[in-house]
Amino acid sequence: MPTQIELARDGNISDEMERVAVDENLPVEEIRENIAQGRLIIPNNLNRKSKVVGIGRGLRTKVNASIGTSTDIVDPDMEAAKARTAEENGADTLMELSTGGDLDRIRQTILAGVNLPVGSVPLYQAFLYAIKQKGSALKMDPEYLFEVIEKQCEDGISFMAIHCGINRITLERLKRQGYRHGGLVSRGGAYMSAWMIENNRENPLYEHFDRVVEILRKHDVVLSLGNGLRAGAVEDSSDRAQIQELIINCELAQIGQDMGCQMMVEGPGHIPIDEIEANVILQKRMSRGAPFYMLGPLPTDIAAGYDHISAAVGASLSSAFGADFICYVTPPEHLALPAPEDVKVGLAAAKIAAHIGDMIKRKDRDRDRRMSHARRKLDWEEQFRVCLFPQQAASIRDSRSPSNTKTCTMCGDSCALNIVDHYFSPYLSEDKKG
Ligand code: SF4
Repeated sequence: MPTQIELARDGNISDEMERVAVDENLPVEEIRENIAQGRLIIPNNLNRKSKVVGIGRGLRTKVNASIGTSTDIVDPDMEAAKARTAEENGADTLMELSTGGDLDRIRQTILAGVNLPVGSVPLYQAFLYAIKQKGSALKMDPEYLFEVIEKQCEDGISFMAIHCGINRITLERLKRQGYRHGGLVSRGGAYMSAWMIENNRENPLYEHFDRVVEILRKHDVVLSLGNGLRAGAVEDSSDRAQIQELIINCELAQIGQDMGCQMMVEGPGHIPIDEIEANVILQKRMSRGAPFYMLGPLPTDIAAGYDHISAAVGASLSSAFGADFICYVTPPEHLALPAPEDVKVGLAAAKIAAHIGDMIKRKDRDRDRRMSHARRKLDWEEQFRVCLFPQQAASIRDSRSPSNTKTCTMCGDSCALNIVDHYFSPYLSEDKKG
């Protein structure tokens, strides 16, 4: 079966392309052309039907929610609840990143429980299997990497973060620059780096990149080139090791596209806000416009407990500058495994950030304009229709009902809008009436 990119290159329009065109209110020919050029992807899997979601040029910024057990907390029911919470609260995609328990069973349960495209990081399972079977991740047999990738494709995973861009040159950069303030924070990146150094071998995923691509292409799964050397501290952002990996990933994105696989490139990480635009420009220029997936990003290291807010600042700027896809961050980031309620909070922050970015990137301002009119008119029903979180908004208003039902308890009788609006409304221009 041809992949979406192969169909697009042959001039064919798939049902998935039609769906994206309708959802995004764009001409389907524009969707097809951007897929053909590798600027737009549809996370897919020939073995599993899921919600059709487009990511890339001209589209709304999409939001991913990550879930998964850890080696300390293995509660598959809680992970299933987190997956449902993510879907109910508007996640566009889900990443299943379990590292504890029966990984195959957890993944299959999650895939059966939601209709979202589900992503994974297959390296985790390969290294954890080596720990279980051989007592050490450093003894991982590279063949197992390819088996795990194949198995997860067969199970129905729609996009995989795979750390192909870490190679001997990247690691040499890390050493020559004097390592890092914040060390390495990508689990897949850390496992792979340790394995390469200990075994004095090249990264099998880089060395046999064509094999990785061929497996994903066969199932039409998106290959998301992992940012294994992303900075885990703002002091390390955009350093030579990170940019080296970005260069390699952009090169690999082109090779993968040419082989007929849908490709995406991942970005930081921790990054101060004045470096976000440069990272987006570099990735877009070097990859010929491949979709860019930003992890957070976090523009400060000291917001522990409120990292979802920090990430929302970084994500809104990333999206405004052209990032296509953002991964949410939850309040317990850096501190503990998230609970279902954290998923909801993290998603709310990321969805706000994505919208703020889209207001710049796509000039999506209609809802904001409608909201301003509804607020001026004290039209509460319309406000709830237009806002991002209607239930939350209505429940807060209901919990503190005003004596004058026209206004709210914030100002009560001193409601500025109520005091002055009738003086000026006769002068309202047509475009401001709403
Ligand atoms: S009472 Fe204050 S906060 Fe509430 S609608 Fe009026 S001006 Fe806005």
